[in-house]
Amino acid sequence: MTNAVNNCANCEAPIIDPTTQVVQGEAYYCCPNCSHAMNQSGSGSDPQTPDYPNELHCSRCGSPLLDENTIEEQGDQVFCCRNCASAATRRILTAS
Ligand SMILES: [Zn+2]
Ligand SMILES: [Zn+2]
Ligand SMILES: [Zn+2]
Repeated sequence: MTNAVNNCANCEAPIIDPTTQVVQGEAYYCCPNCSHAMNQSGSGSDPQTPDYPNELHCSRCGSPLLDENTIEEQGDQVFCCRNCASAATRRILTAS
């Protein structure tokens, strides 16, 4: 059995840490921040959501960091979760 790693449907980070992942139907997200970002820009009936000017955004995928429980800080950078952070630091996303 191959241990397939799911990729976030929003930022495509490999979900290596499933503790923060969010599953919605068939979509996997690396964390609640990404799932929220996706729901916001996707077919949303939400009128005009303010751009959360006071909120931090992920240094890699730009998702608003609404859920502080999954935030991963590395030096000056802050990521939405460990999955995104490791994707950013590895930078190997070459599809075979
Ligand atoms: Zn993500
Ligand atoms: Zn991110
Ligand atoms: Zn994330």
